[in-house]
Amino acid sequence: MDNKRKIYNKLLDLVKEENVKMDELLKDHLYTKLGGRADFFITPTSFQEVQNVVKLSNEDNIPFTLLGNGSNLIIKDGGIRGIVINLKHLDDISTDGNTLVAQSGARIINASRYALKKHLSGLEFACGIPGTVGGALYMNAGAYGGEIKDVLDYAYVVDREGNLVKRLASELDLDYRTSNIPDNGDIVVEATFNLKPAKYEEIKEVMDDLTYKRESKQPLEYPSCGSVFKRPPGYFAGKLIQDSDLQGTNIGGAEVSKKHAGFIINKDNATTSDYISLIEHVQKTVKEKFGVDLEREVRIIGEDPEQ
Ligand SMILES: Cc1cc2nc3c(=O)[nH]c(=O)nc-3n(C[C@H](O)[C@H](O)[C@H](O)COP(=O)(O)OP(=O)(O)OC[C@H]3O[C@@H](n4cnc5c(N)ncnc54)[C@H](O)[C@@H]3O)c2cc1C
Repeated sequence: MDNKRKIYNKLLDLVKEENVKMDELLKDHLYTKLGGRADFFITPTSFQEVQNVVKLSNEDNIPFTLLGNGSNLIIKDGGIRGIVINLKHLDDISTDGNTLVAQSGARIINASRYALKKHLSGLEFACGIPGTVGGALYMNAGAYGGEIKDVLDYAYVVDREGNLVKRLASELDLDYRTSNIPDNGDIVVEATFNLKPAKYEEIKEVMDDLTYKRESKQPLEYPSCGSVFKRPPGYFAGKLIQDSDLQGTNIGGAEVSKKHAGFIINKDNATTSDYISLIEHVQKTVKEKFGVDLEREVRIIGEDPEQ
């Protein structure tokens, strides 16, 4: 039996058969619609299953990668070796008084809508962010003046050893589009938010307004990974790109959006290398023109394709 089949069989001891796939095409799971295959793609249905997979990965030295809703990731065309863990089945959301608890595979948009239904304010900013709760904590997602840091109380994570551990928000080093979750190697499995009671109509009005702003300014009709770059101190990435006359520039099928300069869209069957080349071209042009380094917000992971 080859090694890959052996790992597959071990995973079947931990996760139900319908939740383990081999050679899964990742582009189907990504907002950019780009990316090669994962050796193993698993969708656990309990925290215990996540813990068991981490322990197996440690014992057998198999790397693993978390994939949320794929809205802040570019995966290279050679795909990902080892195990990709996707928590889409861990998506419960509930409230208790002013507290909202969401499992990490739930969409943050759904958590925001659930809060509205329960007349709780604080997650309005997240009503159009297309990631999961886990992905939102990972990068302290935010929009229109709000961010995860403002409302997160604590999270449960599975740590590197496979233990279920509680981490207070203050222990996560949440800052502008960053946290210590990647450095610690934690897998977020659940988050608890502190919200405030408010009138349904007032919360809804804010969400409607933010949705209007987003829909009118962002090229949501094309696959993309949202804003590609972080806001450089003292500047706006979109404005620098616009003032560098880069809107409409394309490499292969990837294009700097004409609607929102901070977005790169997959306009016409782009490859990952088109995307990455265009990102580098934008960084180089802005640096030459304004002397500003644009730091990527989007993560690029995976292997280059074999030649
Ligand atoms: C159209 C569009 C609009 C967007 N608007 C915004 C915006 O307004 N504000 C904003 O902040 N972002 C925005 N984004 C970016 C993106 O939605 C957020 O970064 C989101 O938080 C990513 O979540 P995800 O589940 O898609 O993560 P993924 O893209 O799947 O993963 C991102 C990173 O998080 C890690 N990760 C995912 N889940 C977990 C977990 N459970 N535990 C540990 N690590 C995990 C992954 O390993 C990866 O490194 C936008 C994206 C798009 C496409």
